[in-house]
Amino acid sequence: MHGAAVARRTVAIVEDNADNRMLVGAILERSYDVVPYMSGQDAILGCHETPPDLILLDISLPGMDGTQVLRALRADAALAGVPIMALTADAMAGAREMYLQMGFDDYIPKPIVNAQDLRDAVGRLIRG
Ligand code: MN
Repeated sequence: MHGAAVARRTVAIVEDNADNRMLVGAILERSYDVVPYMSGQDAILGCHETPPDLILLDISLPGMDGTQVLRALRADAALAGVPIMALTADAMAGAREMYLQMGFDDYIPKPIVNAQDLRDAVGRLIRG
């Protein structure tokens, strides 16, 4: 094939757990360019330099946790309009509402047992 390249959308995954990072990458890499970050600090710098189309953000991170990282990302004008999805093992009743109220655009509980659920959720935020 030749001609104009199709611009692929970019999904940043902020996750300290290597297995989870690889799993999310494996699920999404066919459709998106996946950029991994191992810490919130790295993600704040990297997403500012190269804004992605969506950020998947683990809550339990060393150093800054996901809610602190969310606040920093939301305060960055370079990232205005970039959706941020919480990725968390916190599956308590009411967790979804809590994360949406915090300012996340969506919430995906871990472990990810259904790859299509993640693809659907990402597709809704990127195209929506
Ligand atoms: Mn974690």
